[in-house]
Amino acid sequence: MLSELSHDLTAKKITPVELLNSSLQAIDKHDSKIQAFLSVERKEAMAAAEKSGERIAQGRALSPFDGVPIGIKDNIVTEGRITQCASKILDGFVSPYSATVIERLHALGFVTLGRLNMDEFAMGSSTENSAFQVTKNPFDLERAPGGSSGGSAAAVAVGFLPVALGSDTGGSIRQPAAFCGLAGLKPTYGTVSRYGLVAFASSLDQIGPLAHTVGDVEIIHNAIKGHDAKDSTTVPNEAYLKWDGKIETLRIGFDTALLEGLSSEVRASFEKTLDFLKTRVKSVEAVSLPNQRYGIPVYYLVATSEASANLARFDGVRYGHRTRDAKNLNELYELSRTEGFGAEVKRRILLGTYALSSGYYDAFYGKAQAVRSLIQKDYNNAFQKVDAILMPATPSPAFKIGEKTKDPVQMYLSDALTVGASLAGIPALSVPGPSDGLPIGMQLQGRNFSEDMLFALGKLVEKEFPQKRAVL
Ligand code: GLN
Repeated sequence: MLSELSHDLTAKKITPVELLNSSLQAIDKHDSKIQAFLSVERKEAMAAAEKSGERIAQGRALSPFDGVPIGIKDNIVTEGRITQCASKILDGFVSPYSATVIERLHALGFVTLGRLNMDEFAMGSSTENSAFQVTKNPFDLERAPGGSSGGSAAAVAVGFLPVALGSDTGGSIRQPAAFCGLAGLKPTYGTVSRYGLVAFASSLDQIGPLAHTVGDVEIIHNAIKGHDAKDSTTVPNEAYLKWDGKIETLRIGFDTALLEGLSSEVRASFEKTLDFLKTRVKSVEAVSLPNQRYGIPVYYLVATSEASANLARFDGVRYGHRTRDAKNLNELYELSRTEGFGAEVKRRILLGTYALSSGYYDAFYGKAQAVRSLIQKDYNNAFQKVDAILMPATPSPAFKIGEKTKDPVQMYLSDALTVGASLAGIPALSVPGPSDGLPIGMQLQGRNFSEDMLFALGKLVEKEFPQKRAVL
C-alpha cells in the first residue's frame, strides 16, 4: 500500500533505489510468464530513483511519495521515451514532451516506469490486440487480464508495482481491474488532463489509476487531477463537489434490468454487495436506466467515429513506421497504414469512416449522439433519487485467452456495463466484490465530480470483502 511505502521511505527503512530494484527483480523473474511490459525503462527509472534517494537523504523530499514507482500504460507519453500504443505504426516513436499526468507525478517524486502492454491504441477488452504480445492474468495464466489496460492491471496484480496508470474510453480501466482483483477509477470526464494521452475517442478518453486498494487509487487520482491549460476540456477545479462525508445519509440505486445475461457468480457477488451496502447507507432503491441497452451500439459508433478522425494523423510521414515500398504519395499513406495498423484498428477506422460519411452521418453518428444524450438523461433522472448506482463491472469474470478473438461482437459485449458511464461522462469506480473463485468487480457510479463519495463507498466494500492476492 502507498501509505506503508511512503512511511518506510520517509523513515528511511528502504531507499527508492532498493524499492525500484525489488520491482525490477520481480519483473525479471516473472514477466516472461505475465508479459505485462513491452519494455522496461530501467535506466531512466534508476536515474530518477537515485535522485529521489538523494532528496530524501537531504530532507528535501518532494512529497510523501517521493521514490514510489508507478507503472505507465504505453499510450501516455514521457519526454525522451518511446511510446507506441502497442502498435507497429508508432515503431520507435520517441516523445518530444511529457503528458501532464507524468509531469504531475514527477513533481511529487513518483518514479514512472513504462511501457505497459495494452490493446493496440486501447481498442479491445483483453490485451490480445497488442501488436507484440498477449498479457496473462496473474490469477490464471490461461485467462485474459482484461483490456485495454491489461498490462497495467497484470503488473499491479502480480506485485511488480504498487500502482499503475491506465486509460479508460469505454471500460479499459474498470474491466481489467475487475478481472485482476484490483480497484480502478474512470474519473469524471474533464477532471484529468488528456494532454499527452494518445487520443482514441476524445470525448470519452480519461486517464485513471489501478491499485490494490481504493485508498491508493484515491492518492494517485488526486495527484494527477485538476485543470490543465493544455487541455481545454479539463474543468476548473472549483467544479469539484464537496461531499459531507456522511455515508449513513446516502441512497444507492440499482437496475435489475442490467442483471440479465450475467454469469451466476457475478450476479451472486452483486447481490451480496448490495445486501451489505444496505446495512450501511440510508436506503437502497430500484432505478431505471432504460437506454443502457443501447450502450454498446452507441459506444461503438461514437468511439469508432472519433477514432477514425484521431488516427488519420498516422500517415507514414509524421510518426513511426513508413513503408519502404511506396512509388507515390498515395501509396506511402496506404501502405504505411496497411502495414502499421492491426486488424482491430483497421476495422474501427472503417466502421467510423462509414458512420461519418455524408450519406450515413444522420442514420449512424447522428443517431448515436442522440441516444447518447438519452443515456445521460437516464442518469440525471436516477441521480434525482439516489446518490450512487451499484452494478457489476463486467458480465463475467476473466474469460480465457482466445475465447472471444474470433467474434468481435462477443468481445464488444464484455463492455456492456462500463460504456454507460463513459458515454455520460460520470465517474465510475470498480472495486473487488465477494467471490469464491476468480476476481469479480463491482462498479459504483455517481454524479459528476462525486469521486470522494465513490471512494468512501468503495472502501467499505473492500473492507467487507477482502480480495485474495494472485500467487504465481
Ligand atoms: N473495450 C472497449 C473498446 O474496445 C473499451 C476500450 C477502452 O476503454 N479503451 O473500445
